[in-house]
Amino acid sequence: MKILVANIGSTSLKWRLFDFSNNLERLLHKGGFERVTDYPAAIDDCLAQIKAAGHIAHESDFTAVGFKTVLAKNVTGCVRLDDRVLGAMEAFNGLAPAHNPPYITGIRLFGKRMPGVPLVGLFETAFYQFAPEAMMRYAVPQAWNDIGIRRWGFHGASHKFIAERSAELLGRNDVAERARRLYVDGLKTPTNQPGLRVISCHLGGSSSITGIRDGAAIGNSLGMSPQSGLPHNNRVGDLDSEAIPYAVKTLGITIEEAQRQLTKESGLKGLSGVSNDIRDITTAAEQGNAQAKLALDVFVASARHWIGGYFFELGGADAIVFTAGIGENRTEIRAAICADLEGLGIELDSALNASTRATETVISKTGSRVKIMVIPTNEELVVARETKRLLENSRN
Ligand code: ADP
Repeated sequence: MKILVANIGSTSLKWRLFDFSNNLERLLHKGGFERVTDYPAAIDDCLAQIKAAGHIAHESDFTAVGFKTVLAKNVTGCVRLDDRVLGAMEAFNGLAPAHNPPYITGIRLFGKRMPGVPLVGLFETAFYQFAPEAMMRYAVPQAWNDIGIRRWGFHGASHKFIAERSAELLGRNDVAERARRLYVDGLKTPTNQPGLRVISCHLGGSSSITGIRDGAAIGNSLGMSPQSGLPHNNRVGDLDSEAIPYAVKTLGITIEEAQRQLTKESGLKGLSGVSNDIRDITTAAEQGNAQAKLALDVFVASARHWIGGYFFELGGADAIVFTAGIGENRTEIRAAICADLEGLGIELDSALNASTRATETVISKTGSRVKIMVIPTNEELVVARETKRLLENSRN
């Protein structure tokens, strides 16, 4: 069973090919192109590479192609990408202008290039479909909610990977199985005992934090769009709704220019004035750049704010998990986020933390009530697994 996962950007195409034969999960091939101007040609080149490597003889050898789609009107979960679903994505182009249009174009091109191969979308919002409504609403008039102005939550593939893997590592295979079957069975899969509480921190170019109870998310720091929650590399994160009209009037800029600045010139880049990469910002801070130091402090304060919120909401935590570029590699950011929390039973082992990069490791002290873990995420694998599960389930 060979499943291709295609990651579509407005000018990029990346792919991974997984083989699930004999109950194994094998990555057969991966590759990608940046600065794509001719998408049909890029798809042809991708297929040519996979064929040249001997993994398929013909497109029909793919069991399916999976996509990490972002959001759609009244559709979430893991679904076949038929005209109805593509129409629902189109209906939310305005909410995800950078993501939905290129995905729709790309999916249609894949469909044309390989008719008969099922195309499957795992929506980034899928992990939050069972979250309590109170955690997902903004206090706006009903008509605003009705056009999609609510918390959708994103990074669903990554946080679901962490939900499954953390439960396995914590010895709760029952919860891992519940998380695995979430998009097929909803919350129906029973657990041996209730109450596994995990806080998943996906900290990278784009960051989000999720509270997870018994394998299912209770919310996410990203809201209606990926421009919310923690500060991102160059995107603002949470912002008071009065800020945009005030900036437009006071700075004499257009609303489009305000949007551009909030999505391209803000976040860690805007705060630090140095770079959108935390490595450069840390170097500048170490050399005495006060703005760079402030950018790091704001990022840490925001992470603690969201972790604290879910900690309270979950009534504590069994584990706090760090993942993605910053979460897996930036030891000093993890240390700052976990500082002075012994009173809550959160005790980082500084030596273990300092020596851990991008490997599955428990980095808390032996007696820490809350385990602190690093788990490298694998979003493409989640897309491939869910695609496989959907196809198997629709066959039964
Ligand atoms: P994206 O959300 O774009 O996938 P990543 O998860 O790769 O981004 O995270 C990018 C951020 O993580 C950058 O700020 C970068 O400095 C940091 N980062 C990524 N990889 C490493 C690494 N190997 N060592 C240190 N920092 C890293």
